[in-house]
Amino acid sequence: MICELISVGTELLLGNIVNTNAQFLAEQCALLGLTMYYQSTVGDNPERLSQTITQALDRSDVVILTGGLGPTEDDLTKEICAQVMGFPLAEDPHTRQRIEEYFKNNIYQEIPDNNWKQAVIPQGALVLDNDNGTAPGLILEKDGKRAILLPGPPGELIPLFTHQVAPYLEKLRPEIIRSQMVKICGVGESQVEDKLLDLIDQQTNPTIATYAKTGEVHLRVTASASSQEEAEKLIKPVVKEIKKRFGDAVYSTKEEESLEAAVVRLLKKHELTVTTAESCTGGMLAARLVNVPGVSDVFREGFVTYSNKAKRRLLDVGKGTLKKYGAVSEQTAREMAMGGVFATGADICVATTGIAGPGGGTEDKPVGLVYISCILRDEVTVQRFQFKGNREKVREQTVVKALDLLRRSILASYR
Ligand code: ATP
Repeated sequence: MICELISVGTELLLGNIVNTNAQFLAEQCALLGLTMYYQSTVGDNPERLSQTITQALDRSDVVILTGGLGPTEDDLTKEICAQVMGFPLAEDPHTRQRIEEYFKNNIYQEIPDNNWKQAVIPQGALVLDNDNGTAPGLILEKDGKRAILLPGPPGELIPLFTHQVAPYLEKLRPEIIRSQMVKICGVGESQVEDKLLDLIDQQTNPTIATYAKTGEVHLRVTASASSQEEAEKLIKPVVKEIKKRFGDAVYSTKEEESLEAAVVRLLKKHELTVTTAESCTGGMLAARLVNVPGVSDVFREGFVTYSNKAKRRLLDVGKGTLKKYGAVSEQTAREMAMGGVFATGADICVATTGIAGPGGGTEDKPVGLVYISCILRDEVTVQRFQFKGNREKVREQTVVKALDLLRRSILASYR
């Protein structure tokens, strides 16, 4: 089934707001196994909106429209869509009552006259009650085509889509769609694609989609089948093959598990505690770990040692080391990790030191040069990286590599 997205609003065309609804809906439609060929953005202009809807209904089975359902004059989506599809408009008593209740319970003021406009709906449309606003979602069905109208505010659109539209769309499909995530860290996107080329080339059912994130690649394996069991049967061997090809680089097969959560899971499994000794990441690594609920079992304290003085005082990095090799060096990274373990008694310490830029680079040590070290049971590993990008990107990549080094050090130690 082919679906298409129309985002309505002049503020989107002017770049005043980011079209996060399009991202959300495109991702959800893909998860539901719908094919999307087109997305358009159109301003609050009746002729252009009418043309866009006509064209979309001509080439797609389901057209999802967002925005322009508000009470003001320039909110036109419902009126134009009803006109294009030939639905007369009439007030819906149920929606009128819901608007009254919404004002009574949430807004505590007289209902402005123009809000009654939202109680007028295309006759015969399916009304999706909106618990978070006054404009209901609407589904218009005609001649095998469907238009789904959703309010623009994400706080209204997301629950409406999740609880009412997604189940509706699922029912339209003869097969069910299931997917499984495989998350990879430490291998670049093109390398991942190279290694999977034969599988990707052959793919029909299941399909493999790749998504690049900072320092990570996520693969979604999606199958369609007549039952959940059958879909899982199709997915399982493909996931197994991916895991075989990437080994330790696969850190999770759970949709909701982040890299830091996978690290914390491993630490807990082996009853290990960790501390952090950070220079260029300035606490970002500790913050990523603290994202994970229950981390206090394995992470108790960390250090932000930005200056040489702090590295010496808190981590006992040798004055001679700093002088001879500099703060951004393999030797300093090594001593920072060792000092972290010594100072806290943790089983592991991960340390970061680098030149995040934009200033501070030299020919020998350019911006983006980072050393990351990890000590686990007297075994110290130091890795050198030359990252690209601005200060923020360099620091973000450092954190991902540090988490990955920590993860791989634990795996190697328990093999
Ligand atoms: P309302 O009833 O609140 O007027 P509406 O359906 O008319 O809703 P719009 O007026 O088009 O929606 O947009 C209202 C607000 O919703 C925008 O100011 C913006 O904050 C948010 N919004 C609209 N469209 C999008 C979008 N595509 N992505 C993210 N946010 C959006």
